[in-house]
Amino acid sequence: MGRPADLVLAGGRVEPVAPRAAPADAVAVTDGRISGVGTTADVEGLIGPSTRVIRLSGETVLPGFQDAHCHAVYGGLMHTECNLHELPDEAAYLVAIKAWADAHPDLEWISGDGWHYGTFGSPMPHRSALDRVVSDRPVILSAFDGHTAWVNSRALELAGIGPETADPEHGRFIRDDDGMPTGALVEGAVSAVSRLVPEPSHETLVQALVDSQRQLHAWGITAWHDPGVNPEWLPAYQEVMADGRLTARVVAAQQWKRWGKEREADPLPRLLAGRESSRTVGLRSDVVKFFLDGVFESQTAYLLEPYLDDDGRAGTDRSRADYGQDELDAAVIELERQGFDCHFHAIGDAAVRQALDAVAAARAANGPRDARHSIAHIELIDRTDIPRFAELGVAANMQPFWAHLDPETRDIQVPLIGPDRYDARYAFGDLQRTGARLAIGSDWTVTTADPLQILEVAIRRIFPTQRDDPPWRPDQRLDLDTALAAATVGSAWVSRIESDTGTIEV
Ligand SMILES: [Zn+2]
Repeated sequence: MGRPADLVLAGGRVEPVAPRAAPADAVAVTDGRISGVGTTADVEGLIGPSTRVIRLSGETVLPGFQDAHCHAVYGGLMHTECNLHELPDEAAYLVAIKAWADAHPDLEWISGDGWHYGTFGSPMPHRSALDRVVSDRPVILSAFDGHTAWVNSRALELAGIGPETADPEHGRFIRDDDGMPTGALVEGAVSAVSRLVPEPSHETLVQALVDSQRQLHAWGITAWHDPGVNPEWLPAYQEVMADGRLTARVVAAQQWKRWGKEREADPLPRLLAGRESSRTVGLRSDVVKFFLDGVFESQTAYLLEPYLDDDGRAGTDRSRADYGQDELDAAVIELERQGFDCHFHAIGDAAVRQALDAVAAARAANGPRDARHSIAHIELIDRTDIPRFAELGVAANMQPFWAHLDPETRDIQVPLIGPDRYDARYAFGDLQRTGARLAIGSDWTVTTADPLQILEVAIRRIFPTQRDDPPWRPDQRLDLDTALAAATVGSAWVSRIESDTGTIEV
């Protein structure tokens, strides 16, 4: 055996996750790398006088979890704003908003996030409720999924939004019968107000990252993929990377065209500059995130077949593509040539198909290559598109915590898409059976980043607080080994770090 190890974990149950690995009960680490895996007797030879030995008494050793879709900056900012995430209903929101506003009399804007669509009488909230608790200052509160904002009358007034204001290109204002916006701003309409809100300071962003990392490490997460880091946020990541405080392995993905302030004609110069400034400090910003659609709740998820009308019959609205297919194809082809990987947000089946078509176009144009594209969410997928993940080598970037029967979501979504499409969501078992590469992400702060809870739902399709319920779509469950691999080495593949991380092997 070689020189003594720095650390030995012995007498445990090691889950190497590596394919073909033999069962093991001990691990040795030397110079930050795994230097031995096997039985405790195998590894004993690596114990020297200065080796730290931890006797595990049968405890399990797993590779560090890797979160393939984690909004870490938001995670830290959550505590610098009015946090509605765990509250049950509108009445509780209003109490919390008033208390936050009263406790922060100097704040120019009251901002926050975490409200849920199903907690109001109707899916969308109204400005009048906010006006009752805060009327002198503008209020903007993001939905838990970040796709809709709820604002008060003062915020609409400051933004100059009234009955005459037209909907923006990639969003809409929900309106009262007289045409006045209700204060529910969908997708691209959010920026009509959010552009006025002061950006968090660089110091606030740095602290947010440090706080997030502490929480993520506590959940056992050692690497993550942050989808869509704003240019204003990238310097915070670069600073904690440069000064050694970033102990996780992170891909800080940059966003393709940004909505709002200005719709960029050509984002490539910004993306190249961002990648380069990250590279100088050893940070990875070589992934580009595309929002291809929105969410079902606001009927912005892009569908192959129309949403249902109020009478339950197919209407005419399939929602809009955020990009034309030609534009998307050209972007992915060029990004591949520039050495970027792509990360697509796709909820509706038409958006998933768009992403697959764009990757197919890139394959045809650029030939075979080691691309690491992933499609996140995949809430709905057409059956004919399921085998295309494996064929095209695209990773299914799954958020399986959402894959259970949730009455709140059901009550909103079934009237919009019908029971058949509702039940077809999250076909992760089918993706596995066609040989798709699987990665697991949380979409924190949309929902928890706790990998053990996420794996539980992936494996059982039952929510952890409702363990006596029957599983929802049990045929789409993943087995433990598959789910564990997706949350470790599968996510590592998406981040191009699978040769150094994601498994316990020498
Ligand atoms: Zn996300």
